[in-house]
Amino acid sequence: MRLSRLLALFGRALLRRCPNCGGRPIFDGWFRIRDRCPRCGLELQRGEEGYQVGAYMFNIVAAELVFAALFVGVLMATWPDPPWDLLLYGGMALMLVAPVVFYPFSKTIFLAFDLVFRPAERPPPPPG
Ligand SMILES: [Zn+2]
Repeated sequence: MRLSRLLALFGRALLRRCPNCGGRPIFDGWFRIRDRCPRCGLELQRGEEGYQVGAYMFNIVAAELVFAALFVGVLMATWPDPPWDLLLYGGMALMLVAPVVFYPFSKTIFLAFDLVFRPAERPPPPPG
């Protein structure tokens, strides 16, 4: 797979668009992904249990990475007197909010990941 195709897949995923063609909308609301892309017809659920679990795992890992990055960033910026209360309660709030915010992105990013290893049967239609 070419690098430009790889960047396109993940770039579209980060915009909550179909990773395959950039089509939208592929969500009904924030949480419900449609069955198929309205533009290229890509099966968005890909019909497997493992797909859901993969997206959830992606979601949890993303939330933890953001927490770790913020935690280390705040520690480094405020050392030797870090705001421990803010880190504790802010971290707890973040771990509750982040998975909700990341949810649709975890679906599209995991879908992009999946497309890298299992390309769509049909190539994406030309832009326009
Ligand atoms: Zn599409």
